[in-house]
Amino acid sequence: MFLFRFRAVVAFPAVVAFPAVVAVAALLVGSAACGGPPLVAAPAPDPGAVAELPKDPTPATKVAETLDPLTKRCRERLETARGQRLALASFAQKHPRAAPATPTAVLNALNELAIAIDLAAAESSLLFAVHPDKTVRDAAAQCEQQTEALKTEISLDRAIYEALASLDTKTESADVQRLVALTLRDFRLAGVDKDEATRAKIKGLQEEIVQVGQSFEKSIASDVRKVQLGVAQLKGLPQDWIDAHKANAEGKIEISTDYPDYIPFMQYADDDDARKALYMVYRQRGWPANRDNLQKILQLRYDLAKLTGFANWAERITADKMIKNAKAVDDFVTKVAKAAEPRMKAEYQVLLAELKTIDKTATEVSDWQSAYLQGRVKKAKFSFDAQAMRPYLHYDKVKAGLLALTGRLFGISYKPNTTAETWHPSVQVYDVFEGDKAYGTIYLDMHPREGKYKHAAQFTLVNGVKGRQMPAGVLVCNFPDPKAGNGLMEHKEVETFFHEFGHLIHHTFGGHQQFARFSGVATEWDFVEAPSQIFEEWAKDYLTLKTFAINDKDEPVPAALVSKLVAADEFGKGLWVRHQMFYAALSLAMHNRDPAGLNQDALVSETQAKYSAYKSVPDTHMQASFGHLNGYSAIYYTYMWSMVIAKDMYSRFVKEGISNPEVAMRYRTMVLEPGGSKDAADLVADFLGRSYDFKSYEAWLNKKK
Ligand SMILES: [Zn+2]
Repeated sequence: MFLFRFRAVVAFPAVVAFPAVVAVAALLVGSAACGGPPLVAAPAPDPGAVAELPKDPTPATKVAETLDPLTKRCRERLETARGQRLALASFAQKHPRAAPATPTAVLNALNELAIAIDLAAAESSLLFAVHPDKTVRDAAAQCEQQTEALKTEISLDRAIYEALASLDTKTESADVQRLVALTLRDFRLAGVDKDEATRAKIKGLQEEIVQVGQSFEKSIASDVRKVQLGVAQLKGLPQDWIDAHKANAEGKIEISTDYPDYIPFMQYADDDDARKALYMVYRQRGWPANRDNLQKILQLRYDLAKLTGFANWAERITADKMIKNAKAVDDFVTKVAKAAEPRMKAEYQVLLAELKTIDKTATEVSDWQSAYLQGRVKKAKFSFDAQAMRPYLHYDKVKAGLLALTGRLFGISYKPNTTAETWHPSVQVYDVFEGDKAYGTIYLDMHPREGKYKHAAQFTLVNGVKGRQMPAGVLVCNFPDPKAGNGLMEHKEVETFFHEFGHLIHHTFGGHQQFARFSGVATEWDFVEAPSQIFEEWAKDYLTLKTFAINDKDEPVPAALVSKLVAADEFGKGLWVRHQMFYAALSLAMHNRDPAGLNQDALVSETQAKYSAYKSVPDTHMQASFGHLNGYSAIYYTYMWSMVIAKDMYSRFVKEGISNPEVAMRYRTMVLEPGGSKDAADLVADFLGRSYDFKSYEAWLNKKK
């Protein structure tokens, strides 16, 4: 945030009852090229990628030779950034003989500064999340802290602020005027106009927030819990899944809280006690360490908000979003919750009736029963069995299908890049082309392994800058590995794959801007999920699915099965939307107050009771593994806000044909390519020919099947 973009990863809410994914800590405009052994990764950055350093020799070079490559690159990039910072500050010094600073000179230095910092931030954030070697992850964490510290320092640097504020941009391009206006606003939000002592306090708070946030994330990633079950307790699960889970010497099967175990188990296991046991340990992850980490983060954010002139953190973090303030978040959550209420109540009664067919005495449905009962209802009412889809959804074919689809829609192609270095042998790299023209690079790190980020997200590796460096983006997911099993995916996972790929193409198409500030996924944060959510729609389209959903007998998925899937997908929307509003309201409620003395468990329980159909379960502490509370803080609402816009944009595809390359190209050029160079509301209006509204979302929510 501030000065540079704050964002990184973006995530996906639908997969599990508990919204998968999270945003990783803060990046900036993020670019980052990893490169050099033993670390890995090199998206062949443009040779000119490192900015000219002002002549300011420091001992850094000498020291760096003895350091590992990541640390060395980090140091170099931060040195570059510091050099540009000095150059920027010098523009503000009014030497009588000094030539007046021109917008070009100032903005070039600002851009170089952003590029260097982004490289450091993106690489460290990515490697912290994915590198298999703990020492590298630790070095990445350190680099991230240093980068964040420098960002904070710069965001409070009054000399740079003055240099920018003194520019006369009246005759400059719209891009330049926007860059200056937004950057000055970011500076003011950061607190640049406060006195020196206050700025020093702000800096300290910012640094501490990054450190505690990392501890919070680490506690989640490292806390894989397991339950030991008897063979009989696997009843209901797909045979291929059972075959992959052998009993240990004591005759017990170990089921972990990692997604490839957790998701199918919660959906298919007939044994209610076993599901509850796994549910409980899943929602105890991160506890108790993260109780304290969370409390600290909330307090630090509150203090920071007060110091910068806001009533609380929720007010501060919404100030630069489409939604503008905390009250509007509350209004939005209330509006969506109200719209979903009748549907939630009706669906809950259907689940309860289904539960009564198993247990006549049942009086309420619990959260650990939700996915399972929904699966049964879908099977009974819509004759849809999610397991019937699995044989058609092999990871390799889904991946190939997705590459082919985006190629057809957006006029691009992918070529495997076998020379790029990566951080793990399983990572696949593709160069993106439009005709013969290189357009960017994508990295796919798609299967679980120890110590890796647990959710699904898109990371930036290099933020593309026109004429300087190509965009490189990374998908980090945890899908079944064809090398470690049969590679068959759940349809929900396929939707997640499409979702994350939507972010990746946004990053790629938007990665050709002149200014790093506007590159890639650089719109207001509450818009960023729209391009990924809209892309999920293609994962439910029969004509799209039949191109890649092909079983091992070479039979494409039957049309009737897809129709059933689509019909069954209607069920549970009301329950899901309300549960999402629970998360949104919780994320807001933790941040729109003074957190001193906050009883986290009580707040979770109250908020859940208000919005979700299911009560919170005693002895669970979902907030301790709710990673969004670090990455998104008060603004979990952004997912549903984006979805309202995504549904509206999708209505245009429905009207003109979802395989129609003309509308896809218009979407590419009007919504994706501009990156952050326009307000999101204007991008959408350009595409739709009018302002977005709530109607398509409401129609989707209330659709009867
Ligand atoms: Zn997302």
